[in-house]
Amino acid sequence: MKAIQIGGLVSFTTIDYPGKLAAVLFLVGCPIRCAYCSNPHLIPVGDGEYDPDKILEWLQSRKGKLEAVVFSGGEALMQGAATIDYMRRVRDLGFAIGLHTNGFYPENLAAASEVVDWVGIDYKATKTNYEKLTGVNIAYDHLLKSLDVWSKTGKPSEVRVTCDPRFVSLDDLLEIARDVSKRGFKNFAVQKYIPHFEDEEHNTTSAMRESFFNNAELRDKINSLFDTVIWRE
Ligand code: SF4
Repeated sequence: MKAIQIGGLVSFTTIDYPGKLAAVLFLVGCPIRCAYCSNPHLIPVGDGEYDPDKILEWLQSRKGKLEAVVFSGGEALMQGAATIDYMRRVRDLGFAIGLHTNGFYPENLAAASEVVDWVGIDYKATKTNYEKLTGVNIAYDHLLKSLDVWSKTGKPSEVRVTCDPRFVSLDDLLEIARDVSKRGFKNFAVQKYIPHFEDEEHNTTSAMRESFFNNAELRDKINSLFDTVIWRE
């Protein structure tokens, strides 16, 4: 089996795994091309600059200080068995396992569900805009399969939408929330779109980006669909 390729590390975070102090590993490779990607250097498949065995040694030294390790990317499940095997090794050190995923690999998510304790799944847009945003026409169908795979596990999760006004309207956000609720999810997050790069081509204004957060009627409707909704402004 090819060794896992790790391209980045955050050694301490309080926001990437609900209620736990965590480290985040950023895995190399992503099958889609989001217009707003904040980690474009992680998209190409290639060698990661971090030694996986050294990271395990470092994690061993963090036992008692960290509670969880979150696998992010890129798309952590693109490396399939290498990722899942490494997750098991991290779990065996005593850490809870978190996963941030775009949902592109439902079969890999099913295989990983035995070791992953919590997942954050990106629901990027409605079907109409998914290909425009991600550049990949099958990404939406894969996402829906992944949602259903995870919903069946009964394990904790958060489904989140980044509200880039170029690809998501207020009506779209409500449509997505209703679909996520219908699929049995209890925790939802609405994330503000923040342009990452000065030269990024976009024509959104601050008012457009904030419009998802200051519409009381929309908030009430979405809040009523879930046990918890986090509004990340
Ligand atoms: S899924 Fe994440 S890493 Fe992949 S292109 Fe989209 S934003 Fe970038």
